[in-house]
Amino acid sequence: MGKFPVADQAFLSVAVCMKCKARNPRTNKVCRKCGYKKLRPKKQKRKDAKGGA
Ligand SMILES: [Zn+2]
Repeated sequence: MGKFPVADQAFLSVAVCMKCKARNPRTNKVCRKCGYKKLRPKKQKRKDAKGGA
């Protein structure tokens, strides 16, 4: 199968603050820069990239 866990990990390991756009580790619950609670995964292109019904 054409699966690339490395690439997936690279994308999934970064979250972007929706307020200040700082990049945070996905493990962060809040932005390390401004403390904003809404972090979105980088490369959020496909809605159903995984677990598509
Ligand atoms: Zn922030």
